Amino acid sequence: MESCDCIVETQWPADELLVKYQYISDFLIAFAYFSIPLELIYFVQKSAFFPYRWVLMQFGAFIVLCGATHLINLWTFSMHSKTVAVVMTVAKMSTAVVSCATALMLVHIIPDLLSVKTRELFLKNKAEELDREMGLIIKQEETGRHVRMLTHEIRSTLDRHTILKTTLVELGRTLDLEECALWMPSQRGLNLKLSHTLNNLMLVGSTVPINLPIVNEVFNNAEAIPIPHTCPLARIRPPAGRYVPPEVVAVRVPLLHLSNFLINDWPDLSAKSYAVMVLILPMDGVRKWREHELELVEVVADQVAVALSHAAILEESMHARDQLMEQNVALDRARQEAEMAIRARNDFLAVMNHEMRTPMHAIIALSSLLLETELTPEQRVMIETVLKSSNLLATLINDVLDLSRLEDGSLELDSRMFNLHGVFREVINLIKPVAAVKKLSMTLFLGPDVPVYAVGDEKRLMQAILNVAGNAVKFTKEGSILVVASIAKQESLRDLQPPEYPVSSDGHFYLRVQVKDSGCGIVSQDIPHLFTKFAHSQSGSSRSNGSGAGLGLAICKRFVNLMEGHIWIESEGADKGSTVTFVVKLGFCNNPNESTVQQVMVSGRAHQGSADLIGHKPLVKDFVPRYQRSV
Ligand code: ADP
Repeated sequence: MESCDCIVETQWPADELLVKYQYISDFLIAFAYFSIPLELIYFVQKSAFFPYRWVLMQFGAFIVLCGATHLINLWTFSMHSKTVAVVMTVAKMSTAVVSCATALMLVHIIPDLLSVKTRELFLKNKAEELDREMGLIIKQEETGRHVRMLTHEIRSTLDRHTILKTTLVELGRTLDLEECALWMPSQRGLNLKLSHTLNNLMLVGSTVPINLPIVNEVFNNAEAIPIPHTCPLARIRPPAGRYVPPEVVAVRVPLLHLSNFLINDWPDLSAKSYAVMVLILPMDGVRKWREHELELVEVVADQVAVALSHAAILEESMHARDQLMEQNVALDRARQEAEMAIRARNDFLAVMNHEMRTPMHAIIALSSLLLETELTPEQRVMIETVLKSSNLLATLINDVLDLSRLEDGSLELDSRMFNLHGVFREVINLIKPVAAVKKLSMTLFLGPDVPVYAVGDEKRLMQAILNVAGNAVKFTKEGSILVVASIAKQESLRDLQPPEYPVSSDGHFYLRVQVKDSGCGIVSQDIPHLFTKFAHSQSGSSRSNGSGAGLGLAICKRFVNLMEGHIWIESEGADKGSTVTFVVKLGFCNNPNESTVQQVMVSGRAHQGSADLIGHKPLVKDFVPRYQRSV
């Protein structure tokens, strides 16, 4: 507005031309002044939102007034009337007022305008930032999609070679690579060996030392890093025709060992090892590695590590499975061999049973007969020794046979009706003479509730009682032996589950036999081993008198178990006597009359049996040898 020269012109002797130019200029200025408010009015009308309309109006008025003064000026170049001077004065004064008001107003609204400007700038920056973020999100989405795709491809197999091949192919395709390769550590860990490449298969197998600084740099960096195209790791592409240095990056691929998955407190002895993946962009000199591409490479390297570890676990478990299968085959072979050994043993026992019993039988029978002839005292002692030794041997043969048949399950109970009281009396009759020699008192107590007749395996029951009672006589030097038979009461069924052993049900009852002696007793640590065959004789227990093979109680236990019962031994210690107790399941006899027949049959066999001592021998004599040996 400096051009506005709004002062009252005075008349001066003017040059004609100058006046003319001033005249034209004033006219043009006035014209321009008048056109500006029109443009402003047009702008205000058209703009949807403009906060300072009234300022514009004020500004418009100011300009119109300036224009008016210039217009009025046109009349002041020549002689003019007083009216023109007054009009001129009013116009100038109005211009002065409006221009001052506008200047003041501008001062007032400048900060406001400035803040609007700042806000606009701020918004502009924000918009740019948002744009950038959007770009980033889109890139990340794209990377994510690629990673998912790659991961899916990589993980779709558990074969190491396929995983690596797929990785290279997919990476090459996604990132449009010139070459992509994988360097794996060698067996001894001294070199890196080129194991897979995308295109240049010729170089597979070449090596670089693992201690190169560039290799170390890659190993120590969790991210993909650019490496010089001249370094040994990057020499994996065919020589280029025209030389444009390619952009190369390398990233480490952690090779997780099985030990990485073991429990924390196990020391991890295996050093961490890495493979190296090298990626080369096309050699057009245009493409550069972008950040999201590097991120993708890093994520893929991690995915490859996971897939490789899964493959390693699978390989390991397959290896373990193969080993197990081998072990199974070996076990199967061992089982077959064991079965063959058992069969051989059974065959041997069968032969022994048949072939050895007969001569033993003859020796015993003939020695007995010899004893009845006239002999010198020396001969008698010798024959008695032969008889005693033969009896011992016969017992041993019987025990071994019984035990082996018990063990292979071929021994079955021979259940029939028998005289239960008779069995006890028979045992006492057998033992009493020896007890009498040792000056031991012998008492049998048969409980009033013990039935006279029962159903069960008489022979095995008698064998068990005789073994236990025989031991009592054998291990007692002085004092007494008490044999008690009763029906097992609920509370007396030690260690037995009451539901398993009801007092009596289903026509059955539990017979409890207890043999108490005042003999040498047993120390508590020996008790658990007494029912194990040969145990005491092998351990060289002080209590073993060397006369037995340590089979008696083991056989008793098996008999008792076969009869659904239980046997145990108690002693307060050395020289405090022992108590052996067993419980067996027997059947009640519904028709005792049948037992008469049985009884007759048994005693009949007893009479005819003197010549058949071991084979099909009478019931009682079957136990005599062991008993004789015991005493
Ligand atoms: P053996 O054929 O040697 O008698 P047993 O199996 O009958 O074998 O007995 C095993 C061991 O149990 C005996 O050697 C003995 O040490 C101990 N034993 C068994 N009964 C008694 C008893 N009544 N008193 C003391 N010790 C006994």
